[in-house]
Amino acid sequence: MKKSISFILVICICLACALTGYAADTGIKIDGTWSVLMPENPTSYESFAADKLASALSDVFSEDISPVTSADKNFIAIGVASKADTAEIADNGYRIQAIDGNIHISGTGIRGLQAGVNRFLEEFCGRKVYTAEITILPAAKSITVPADTDIVYEPYFEYTDTDWKSPRNVEYSLANGLTGGTYRRLPAEAGGTVDYIGGFCHTMGTLCKTADFAESDPEQLALHNGKRTADQPCLTNPRVLETATASVLDLLRENHDPDASLQIVSVTQNDNQNYCECSKCKAFEDSHGGAQSATMVNFVNQIALAVKAAGYNNVAVDTFAYQYTRKAPQNIKPEENVIIRLCTIECCFLHTLDDSSCKRNTELMKDLHDWSEICKRIYVWDYTTNYSNTCIVFPDFNVIQRNIQVFSENNVKGVYEEGNYYIDNCDTEFGELRAYMISKCLQNPYCDIAAETEGFLAAYYGPGYKDIKKIIDLHIENACKLNGGHLSIGESPAASFSFSNAQIKEIDNCWLSALQAAETPAQKSNIERSMLSWRFWKASTGKGEFSLLNPERYAEKEKLFEDMKASGVSMISEGSYGDYLDCICVKYVPANEWNMYEDDEQAAHVRLFFEKILESLTPFLAAGGLFYKLIYGLE
Ligand SMILES: [Zn+2]
Ligand SMILES: [Zn+2]
Repeated sequence: MKKSISFILVICICLACALTGYAADTGIKIDGTWSVLMPENPTSYESFAADKLASALSDVFSEDISPVTSADKNFIAIGVASKADTAEIADNGYRIQAIDGNIHISGTGIRGLQAGVNRFLEEFCGRKVYTAEITILPAAKSITVPADTDIVYEPYFEYTDTDWKSPRNVEYSLANGLTGGTYRRLPAEAGGTVDYIGGFCHTMGTLCKTADFAESDPEQLALHNGKRTADQPCLTNPRVLETATASVLDLLRENHDPDASLQIVSVTQNDNQNYCECSKCKAFEDSHGGAQSATMVNFVNQIALAVKAAGYNNVAVDTFAYQYTRKAPQNIKPEENVIIRLCTIECCFLHTLDDSSCKRNTELMKDLHDWSEICKRIYVWDYTTNYSNTCIVFPDFNVIQRNIQVFSENNVKGVYEEGNYYIDNCDTEFGELRAYMISKCLQNPYCDIAAETEGFLAAYYGPGYKDIKKIIDLHIENACKLNGGHLSIGESPAASFSFSNAQIKEIDNCWLSALQAAETPAQKSNIERSMLSWRFWKASTGKGEFSLLNPERYAEKEKLFEDMKASGVSMISEGSYGDYLDCICVKYVPANEWNMYEDDEQAAHVRLFFEKILESLTPFLAAGGLFYKLIYGLE
């Protein structure tokens, strides 16, 4: 039996006693003598699932277990060999059932079976895929499955995707249920990915070829502020619809996959506000509640009907509810194969979306409710990082689960959690934790996220993980007090957190204590990397060792700069590749301003200015040092 575990770190903890002790009298005891039973002529889905299960069980029991096609007893049956009835289960779901002392795993759709196997491994073998590098699979002499086991799962979302790091890994995505195709290609035999064909967003100009008609047929262009502009098309012009429909059908002719669970064509407005104000568009919108989304829904509906008429039953047409189209229209409904993608960019991420005390979120909730009244297929484009100051902590951990529940409860069928997609160049805070929390909540919005978080922290940061949890909690408690407690995706370091000096000392101690408790080089490195976020915050706000009163602050800042470089950090905000690395006054300006002082004349002036001040202050530094020690309680 091939054990494909060489690329992952399998941490074997012997939990044999604990696992076998569970429900010993009523449970089904499974050990290395058991078989994985698959049909004689398995489909590719069944072979994939059976191999995965057999391979993992081989690792658990340290026995070679291969799939077989006949067995009388002591088997885990897969696919058609399973007797678990799935007639009532939605597509891509599964059922795990104990029947007559054996285990039966059946799946629906094309990804249900492998999802069921992954659930079995997680639920009964204790398998956890926390990151691309950390998989926990406890070794055991046997495991026990309760004799009354009957687990039924239906996916909460048909499409889930997020940026961040480990979600790009195939095994991680399969174990934790991510299905989008932006960052990963899942094998076809595991259900494949849900792909956007021909573009993820802002595709209108391309599909309508608007600019091509500027001279020959200007009425196809939006009339905005009295002028025709190619920035957007006129959505009530029949010739525009004709071109867009033909473009979409062309895309499908070239890229359609009849075996995919779902493919999506994005028909989304260009990223500007220059929508059409011609009399026909205006009249249509006026008769539909004055919402600019009315012409958009009408336009996209007609394309969606053409797609359906052409026989593309596993294809949906997607459009935005974004900026001027965010408000839902009246007297018109999106067709069932139309996706409305609502964007949360204006929201607060410290309060949950359904927190009525947060005005920023109340408005979005109204739009979500209004859309959910007329559309059963809403997708959400959500945000999970600080794009202006990406190195510091984005304290959204307490809203992730509830917000995903809110989505699920309001007809949202797909979620894209946009994160720090440039994490390869800017990995300093708690990205892997957030990725795991998001993935688990998208897989099951009602999972025990506290237990999942604790398990993750222990595996990723080691025995000192409770200190890390304390640090995260302190960040949440002290977030955005200067902003009335509201968190946007672009807060400055100073606005993000207000810590007392005692709290700063407490957080310093937590980091050190976690670091001292680390047992492996990986845990130590994970703590040091996450700790960069804390050092960067202090270096941006002049706190702790970066205080004006500390004579060592310049050396500390240079050390932070070097540590960030060594850790591969080349960006400190979105779209800022490499610029902070050229800062010529690292020592003298707050860390979050490093990207503003590259090697030019103005920056050179700043550096000289600070160097002069430093010189003149030298005699006072010793006195300042005393104050610093008093404030931070140092010896
Ligand atoms: Zn128009
Ligand atoms: Zn708020």
